[in-house]
Amino acid sequence: MNIEFLGSNGGIGGTAEFNPGSTCIQVSEAILVDAGTGLAKLTVEQMSKIRHVFLTHAHLDHICCLPLFLANIIGKNNDGPVTIHANSSTLDALQQHVFNQVLWPDFTRLPAHEPQLLQFNTLVSRQVITVDGIELTAFATTHTVPTLGYAIKKAGVHTVFAADTTLTDALVAELQRFSAVDHLILECSFASADEALAIRTGHLTPALIRQLLQRLEQPPQQVWLTHLKPTAVSAIVSELEPSWALVSSH
Ligand SMILES: [Zn+2]
Ligand SMILES: [Zn+2]
Repeated sequence: MNIEFLGSNGGIGGTAEFNPGSTCIQVSEAILVDAGTGLAKLTVEQMSKIRHVFLTHAHLDHICCLPLFLANIIGKNNDGPVTIHANSSTLDALQQHVFNQVLWPDFTRLPAHEPQLLQFNTLVSRQVITVDGIELTAFATTHTVPTLGYAIKKAGVHTVFAADTTLTDALVAELQRFSAVDHLILECSFASADEALAIRTGHLTPALIRQLLQRLEQPPQQVWLTHLKPTAVSAIVSELEPSWALVSSH
């Protein structure tokens, strides 16, 4: 992959061979997807270069480092504001429950003088955004809150990150739209024995992933699994297909 997972766990903690850090993907020096605890691995210098954060959804494991990251770079963003790209549900949640002047300052109004720190950009499913020559296509997945996955075309490599989701016809239909996928990254939160819990919480298991892959007319070159709950890692690892790989964070 030509993108880097700073965090790839479905929770905090974890084991030595499966590094801790919740979802945060560094697509380029200036672009992140999600802002989980993996973001904390960046230096302040690296953080100050981030200009775009694409969020999948509002759940804490995907946004918890966003407020602290923004506080770190206040006054250091001389190249312009950080743009948070997300669906309207996610942006509403951030404004109502995070940047609400109680849990954290409203950074869309701070600082009072230039440079502005933060701006929001509302995305809809199937919208395509190009930043620094990298094309990101948002697509709806099936989770407990409105969620977007992202298909990323960077330097000729096509990576599809399906975010938090469970298996539905709608998800299959969205994934069928992408052709010549080099890397398909799927969440695998629970072991197959916990399928009822996985479905109820909008997640996948190895058995559900097998069903999903069988339904894709054009299989991806490589399947990667991420977002394993730390307590489910050993059970999931025992169920892996030889052709699947686990995403590790650094
Ligand atoms: Zn979630
Ligand atoms: Zn999650």
